[in-house]
Amino acid sequence: MRAMVLDAPRQPLRLAELPAPQAGPGQVALEVSACAVCRTDLHIFDGELTEPKLPLVPGHQIVARVATAGERFERGQRVGVPWLGWTDGSCRYCRSGRENLCDRARFTGYDLDGGYAEQTVVDERFCFPIPDGYEDLQAAPLLCAGLIGYRTLRFAGDAERIGIYGFGAAAHIICQVAVHQGRRVFAFTRAGDEATQAFALELGAEWAGDGLGPPPDELDAALIFAPVGELVPAALRAVGKGGSVVCGGIHMSDIPAMPYELLWGERVLRSVANLTRADAEEFLALAPRVPVRTRVEPFALEQANEAVARLREGSFRGSAVLVP
Ligand SMILES: [Zn+2]
Ligand SMILES: [Zn+2]
Repeated sequence: MRAMVLDAPRQPLRLAELPAPQAGPGQVALEVSACAVCRTDLHIFDGELTEPKLPLVPGHQIVARVATAGERFERGQRVGVPWLGWTDGSCRYCRSGRENLCDRARFTGYDLDGGYAEQTVVDERFCFPIPDGYEDLQAAPLLCAGLIGYRTLRFAGDAERIGIYGFGAAAHIICQVAVHQGRRVFAFTRAGDEATQAFALELGAEWAGDGLGPPPDELDAALIFAPVGELVPAALRAVGKGGSVVCGGIHMSDIPAMPYELLWGERVLRSVANLTRADAEEFLALAPRVPVRTRVEPFALEQANEAVARLREGSFRGSAVLVP
């Protein structure tokens, strides 16, 4: 089968012909239909996430058809595969409903080979049926941008005025969910990025402007999806007393020193780590009810390096999706 392979950080992906992966106990073999590119993939390629399996087939937003039936899925069934690929089920985190924090968790397209390939093999406990009404390409970004974005939004509680910092793949989905829930959305982008600001307004944000500038109104919560530490004090400054700043990315540049008064007034600063299977079930049930409409730009599998470069530049709206 054809796959794009990472041999070492800071090298381009290499197109390779690999033996078809074989399903072991508890696993299903999948024929990949689409795999969306995530900002986390860039952190792996850049060596900012330091412990990938090497060589690695990246990709953790996989839409696929089951090729060999398992216990939960029949042959031919359409499933989605997210970032959380395996947990031990026995550590104190797993036993308390926090498998996203499992000490021995393994992640798709990082510890385990993923979906930048024609075929893959996954633990069937961590696959989910994809809701009807989504084409394969449109469904792919739901698997990480959607899931982890949704977990991030959940930590905003019942906040009414939500600031979204970094308006990429996760934000374009979560903006729709937040508006559906009756919240007011304020979108913060790179300075002068008028195309992205227009995109945010189109998706229901009531205001869009520069990330380091002041908001037009006090916020109740801020969700940070851009991997930029400077946004943390800016977002704390923008939220009112008792407000939350939730960092949804897996990696961020250093947060600058800041005065305690930015946190004072019971403001909360927290991160979001990975996802649980319960998050996946809840979000995949909610998405068609909103309904979330994803914007995608398809690339052939062989064009993965180009898709990655375009994501790095921020030169398109929504998600890049690889089609094998
Ligand atoms: Zn565990
Ligand atoms: Zn991701």
